[in-house]
Amino acid sequence: MRIDIATLFPEMMESILSESIVGRARKKGAIEIVCHQIRDYTNDKHRRVDDIPYGGGMGMVMQADPIYNCYKAICEQIGCKPHTIYMSPKGTVFSQKKAIELSKLDNILLLCGHYEGVDQRILDKIVDEEISIGDYVLTGGELPAAVVTDAVARMCSGVLSSDECFEEESHFRGLLEYPQYTRPEIWENEAVPPVLLSGHHKNIADWRMQQSLEITRIKRPDMYEKYKKEHGE
Ligand code: SAM
Repeated sequence: MRIDIATLFPEMMESILSESIVGRARKKGAIEIVCHQIRDYTNDKHRRVDDIPYGGGMGMVMQADPIYNCYKAICEQIGCKPHTIYMSPKGTVFSQKKAIELSKLDNILLLCGHYEGVDQRILDKIVDEEISIGDYVLTGGELPAAVVTDAVARMCSGVLSSDECFEEESHFRGLLEYPQYTRPEIWENEAVPPVLLSGHHKNIADWRMQQSLEITRIKRPDMYEKYKKEHGE
């Protein structure tokens, strides 16, 4: 899969997406991530990409043309129109389900807004969907794009060491994950639950399932009710 990111701050994106698991996956070719500087596509001699809003009001608005030029260059590079997502507090709130859905596509383009946002006409022309990472407003779409990229990338095959890494995780099957423990066996007088030391795989799986259900019931009653309904309990 290839993820293109159109932004005014490609260095910021690179600094996040070159590290750790996603950085390693990029190096070994399990996923391609390409960041584009929207400013490179403006015809303005001062490399401006924003202007004042029609109708008055605070702040600046990103202009349509540099974004459209950047979009066309990306389409030419990849030889198709990517599924284009505008990072926006007005969008549908991001979820694990959406991350899985996006990870099945060959190409996505994440458009990061800044200032007061983006000229509506370019959104109407190229955007397939708008995604928000939560009901709050950030200064730009870069952190949201990094969140989406990370969540989508780890669903792509070859990024994590094994699919089991995410199949038991919180949100994957509609429940929160059970508690995890590692060495030492006793820490500050607190012991690891004995079942985890038993080597009995079925008992361990049952205990984990029980813990997942209980944690979800307490922390996310909305998820718990949905899970119970879907699983006929
Ligand atoms: N004036 C816009 C509004 O009220 O909807 C907010 C603009 S915000 C200051 C600048 C940019 O940050 C947006 O264009 C968007 O790309 C990004 N952004 C801010 N909050 C976001 C969120 N919760 N999820 C996704 N993107 C967000």
